[in-house]
Amino acid sequence: MVQRQSVGAHSPIGGPLVPRAVAYSLGVSGRHLSRHVPARVEELFRSSGALRDGHFLLKSGRHGDRYLEKFQVLQHPEAVVEICGHLADLVRGDDGQPTVDVVVGPTTGGVLLAFEVARQLGLRGIFAEEVKDADGGTRREFRRGFTIAPGERLYLVDDILTTGGSLLAMLPAIEATPGELVLAGIIVDRSGGTTQVRSEATGRITPVRSLWTLDVPTYEPGPATCPACASGEPLVAPGSTGTSAP
Ligand SMILES: [Zn+2]
Repeated sequence: MVQRQSVGAHSPIGGPLVPRAVAYSLGVSGRHLSRHVPARVEELFRSSGALRDGHFLLKSGRHGDRYLEKFQVLQHPEAVVEICGHLADLVRGDDGQPTVDVVVGPTTGGVLLAFEVARQLGLRGIFAEEVKDADGGTRREFRRGFTIAPGERLYLVDDILTTGGSLLAMLPAIEATPGELVLAGIIVDRSGGTTQVRSEATGRITPVRSLWTLDVPTYEPGPATCPACASGEPLVAPGSTGTSAP
């Protein structure tokens, strides 16, 4: 089961709180990110139009004053190269060499990210895609002949962490391999500060690190609850122009 509840500060997705020291003892020495990284990632998202301020009607029916469309930034290869450089740095040891063996991501954004992070680290980059079960449910699976050898250390990369559902959905696919997941690296954490993810199947905890944490509040429509409604700002429905809403 994937938990869809919102995630509070420093709480793990899908399980009880475990001290950060425990999570980090699992592997990956991981360099500290430069303190300039969050501001630079935000700049790339803003300048590309991937982060917009305004008054937005979201798919959920709620209103938001910030809107993220990740493919606005991911369409620019030079921005992807720069962002993936920071994701790659999260799994470099003190000698600059990768502390992982394979980079994995979920379709669709994760395909780009796994490719570029792996290219910069000199590793393989593979992806898990969504497949339908006979009962109509969906799960993720490594297909296309991708194989992971016993003991290979895996680095999971993804673009936006919202509820954690997409990270959790990757775990069964990863745990079906003989590899070992050592870190999840995320570009934007809009969950409120997730530092780890817990597998419901195995109880295993994987640390999560994000380049940038963004608060994206949503509101019940109406002047009593939504600040932009109260100020009379026109409502925009981003999904109506062919782009997908979060
Ligand atoms: Zn509103």
